[in-house]
Amino acid sequence: MNYLEAINYGNAILKKNNIQNCGLDTELLLAKALRNNRETILINLNKKIEIKFLNKFIKLISRRKKNEPIAYILQKKEFWKNIFFINKDVLIPRPETELVIEEILKFVDINHSKSFLDVGTGSGNITISLIKERLNLRATAIDISTKAIKVAKFNAKMHHLENKINFLNIDIDKFNYNKYDFIVSNPPYIKEANLKNLEDNVRLFEPHIALRAGIDGFKEIKKIIKKGRKLLKKKGKLVLEIGNNQDRLTKYLLNKNGFQINKIRKDFNSIPRVIVSTIL
Ligand code: GLN
Repeated sequence: MNYLEAINYGNAILKKNNIQNCGLDTELLLAKALRNNRETILINLNKKIEIKFLNKFIKLISRRKKNEPIAYILQKKEFWKNIFFINKDVLIPRPETELVIEEILKFVDINHSKSFLDVGTGSGNITISLIKERLNLRATAIDISTKAIKVAKFNAKMHHLENKINFLNIDIDKFNYNKYDFIVSNPPYIKEANLKNLEDNVRLFEPHIALRAGIDGFKEIKKIIKKGRKLLKKKGKLVLEIGNNQDRLTKYLLNKNGFQINKIRKDFNSIPRVIVSTIL
């Protein structure tokens, strides 16, 4: 079998199983199996594929066929301007979360050295993207998942930022160190009852610890707002990503805890997604 025949074979299997982007995904999976890039494959379509690589490719196709997200199979995902190592211990970074980065860059001057706290860092995507844009920033990044911290540390090293980030495996509830210029979080915000309604590719493959947020979906948001006021410097900012229909209650909770709302940023579907607030 040559590369072209392998692509046609993989593509047909994914298509039959209604996998989105089956053409591109097949090529990416063949590239992964051959430990090469997609471009090289596309200019060598007549090349014969060795049996050990073909077997590897077939295994990867059968994972994708079961709807496993391509990011987990390739173990990488682009976020903002960078590539991150990803595995099943962390959430796959989402395009909406790039709005968090955009909003923070608006108030963090290029010359100012500020320190911030990232709650629920996951793969470290938010912290690393921010520091790469503003090299004077310093961060503490926390997560309740030991495995996620491992992934975040790996990414920090890959981006040569391990000296600028302090990683801690701790819950925000128990965290009492320092005062920060701003706090950022894309917390778990899915109601217990809604977990079962998530799309299969999310529900079956992404870590529920990064998604589930109690019966009301606000368990973590509440903790962050309450604790955030104690961990922020005067006039410090809290930037939160929130779930569908969580803007009203989040605004109320922020106001009740002494925050002033600066901005609510809508996502690509016009859903309020990011709230920027300041502690008075
Ligand atoms: N901070 C990571 C992200 O935004 C992980 C968030 C989470 O685990 N809830 O993708």
